[in-house]
Amino acid sequence: MAKKEITSYELVDEYLKLLAGDYATAVAKVFEKKRKAITDEDILKKVPLKITEIRTILNQLHYRGIVCYQKSKNKKTGWYSYTWEMKPERIAEQILEKKTEELSKLRKKLETEANYTMFVCKNNCESYPFEIAAEYYFNCPKCGNPLEAIDQEKEKRKTEKIIKKINEELQDLEKHFNKTQNVGQSTGC
Ligand SMILES: [Zn+2]
Repeated sequence: MAKKEITSYELVDEYLKLLAGDYATAVAKVFEKKRKAITDEDILKKVPLKITEIRTILNQLHYRGIVCYQKSKNKKTGWYSYTWEMKPERIAEQILEKKTEELSKLRKKLETEANYTMFVCKNNCESYPFEIAAEYYFNCPKCGNPLEAIDQEKEKRKTEKIIKKINEELQDLEKHFNKTQNVGQSTGC
């Protein structure tokens, strides 16, 4: 069975795009295919972007420690060239951290909503318990639309479904990394 690539996880795709834009996953895929340090020119051949756009993505990912580079000087031309590497374990770590936080927020939301009737506008700006909604005269303070009682059961099922999905994906991702953690192919830049 072929090993599942990290970029094939929905969570990873989502996270990379959040950090570095729509083409971030496409760039990450080039790293996965090559399985070694690559140059921005290598990426240029595979992704329909300008070199400056690719560099912007690399810099954004570098800022988060997801890619790193090594600089070397060409003895003939005297120019510097950069080779880049991806650190997939950093992606997993950051996602785990972010999603764990998100899960605890969702669980809190479930608890709160089980105890109170919540009110929200049609734009879903923010939900409020009865007392607060009444203070706003049942008009959303953000967009002005009427605040209406949320269908608790439906909301609960929806939140539970989201929690379940995140949990499954996280477990999948964790398993993936526990297996591959010791496969050190990094040169440690
Ligand atoms: Zn609103």
